[in-house]
Amino acid sequence: MDIVCNFKKCRRALSNHAWVTTCSHAFCVEHGKSEFKRNAENSLNCPACGTELRDKFDVIQADLKPGEIFRSIVLAGMRPDTIMDIAMRAMSFWSYQVEQETLYQESMAKHAREKLQCMEEINTLNLQKLKAELETCKRKISSMQTEFNNKRKQAEDLTARLEEKSRKLQKLTFQLEAQKRKDIRVGNFEAVSKPNQETCMDISDLVGQRAASEAFVFRPVLETHESPVNAICSPKTPMFDFCKINKKRQNQPSHFKFRPNKS
Ligand SMILES: [Zn+2]
Ligand SMILES: [Zn+2]
Repeated sequence: MDIVCNFKKCRRALSNHAWVTTCSHAFCVEHGKSEFKRNAENSLNCPACGTELRDKFDVIQADLKPGEIFRSIVLAGMRPDTIMDIAMRAMSFWSYQVEQETLYQESMAKHAREKLQCMEEINTLNLQKLKAELETCKRKISSMQTEFNNKRKQAEDLTARLEEKSRKLQKLTFQLEAQKRKDIRVGNFEAVSKPNQETCMDISDLVGQRAASEAFVFRPVLETHESPVNAICSPKTPMFDFCKINKKRQNQPSHFKFRPNKS
């Protein structure tokens, strides 16, 4: 385990060189150089705890991995109690750093546990909310499934009714065609059996301007039936030429010609 830089938010691991203080704080080379520029006037303060560092040995740059020669000579000649005192102070420094690191890690762990607990509570709430939404969706799906089944049943019923109507329509169409063929056969039979039957029609427009005393009664005749009488006149009116009328009518899609009524 290496101690870390005590500068705020730095926490860089100190393995080879470090700036150490008599208040038991340590800093990396970068922060030591920037914080401990000593001159004749200024007094230094520890960046971690604010302790004033007046003496030149209150803060020094230490070699954390001294060589064999330095280890052999640094405490040489000192009395055992002095050596033990120096060792005890160094161990106290190390213990303080370990204790601070332990407190920091415990604080981080506590913060992490609180954050985890908060996230678990949020997750629990979200889970309950999602479960409620899931239940709502399940109910909606069930309702929609029921509605879908009802609609499908209605569609099947409508399809069955449509097929029944189609069969009836087909049957009626067939009957209508049969009736049409039957009517055509009856019409042809009547046309053959009664060729001289005439159809009356209204020709009031043709004679509308004539006086009542000059009124004629006209009856249309079939084109195949030629009449020997082509013209007629009343005592007071000029000749009415049916040949011209019939010639004009030949250019039109008419089945009728006109002749005066003999009766
Ligand atoms: Zn640092
Ligand atoms: Zn300090």
